[in-house]
Amino acid sequence: MPATLIDGKAFAARVRAKVADHVTRLREEHGLVPGLAVVLVGEDPASQVYVRSKGKQTAEAGMASFEHKLDVKTSESDLLALIAKLNADPEVHGILVQLPLPAHLDSDLVINSIDPAKDVDGFHISNVGLLGTGQKSMVPCTPLGCLMMLRDHHGSLSGMNAVVVGRSNIVGKPMAQLLLGDSCTVTIAHSRTRNLAEVCRGADILVAAVGRPEMIPGDWVKPGATVIDVGINRVEGAEGKTRLVGDVDFASCAEVAGAITPVPGGVGPMTIACLLANTVTACCRANGLTEPEGLTA
Ligand code: NDP
Repeated sequence: MPATLIDGKAFAARVRAKVADHVTRLREEHGLVPGLAVVLVGEDPASQVYVRSKGKQTAEAGMASFEHKLDVKTSESDLLALIAKLNADPEVHGILVQLPLPAHLDSDLVINSIDPAKDVDGFHISNVGLLGTGQKSMVPCTPLGCLMMLRDHHGSLSGMNAVVVGRSNIVGKPMAQLLLGDSCTVTIAHSRTRNLAEVCRGADILVAAVGRPEMIPGDWVKPGATVIDVGINRVEGAEGKTRLVGDVDFASCAEVAGAITPVPGGVGPMTIACLLANTVTACCRANGLTEPEGLTA
């Protein structure tokens, strides 16, 4: 495998250590404890796993973790009332509503009811607008993690051709904005893109956020390119066991790429690390304190 492996697990551990250091400083110097509230509606098994993991890592970083588990039938007005309470709570610096929400709840309405300063997922329309206009915002965690790894690997990204495959609001679009902010020439590809293989072959940086197992083969990758695989897909493995794969075919892409993230152990661990980083950033901003360097875009 000629490509350098970008180890997201190790990188995320370094980000978490930096977060924990800053949390200690906030407590010792300012008597502040950054607090993250996570709201889960219903019992979706994958969401339960994510919420547990978020709570555990928040506590390990020395922050306060507030979990709100609501019944699947919770009404919109009750959920909005909880968010209003969290918006007003000075001990809560970050609020995350775990998606997807049950179908009877309007996700856009719910997300846009979070105080933008506490919107550590970066999905509030104000944060989307701020990011799109190059202003200080809360940055969505998964693309932020990808950007951190790219900056760490390359230093400057200026002038590089970046192709983002996927145009979702949570990954593809904010990823493209961040790469543009770092002066890449950005192409966003999606399911209607013509000659996708050709488009991908033009990328110095190829970000795959599609949700289709191993869709991108090695011969779509420019020799020496950096491949960031956001995809998390569970597929049937040997002896009926399931395994996780990304959106790129790791074996063939790693033969051609200059650097590549694995799945698991690439982008995934960075997402929660960036959530913790965003909570610390929100706490600093709320208290007029200098933000830690290197923990936001
Ligand atoms: P969405 O389903 O919201 O978006 C997928 C995007 O891929 C869409 O823009 C879609 O295009 C595009 N697409 C689908 N099929 C094709 C195709 N054949 N060719 C080109 N483009 C295609 O997914 P998300 O953005 O939420 O997630 C993407 C992946 O990232 C998933 O595997 C998800 O599990 C993973 N993920 C991982 C995270 C992490 O922490 N590592 C966090 C979030 C997501 P169109 O718009 O035209 O339909």
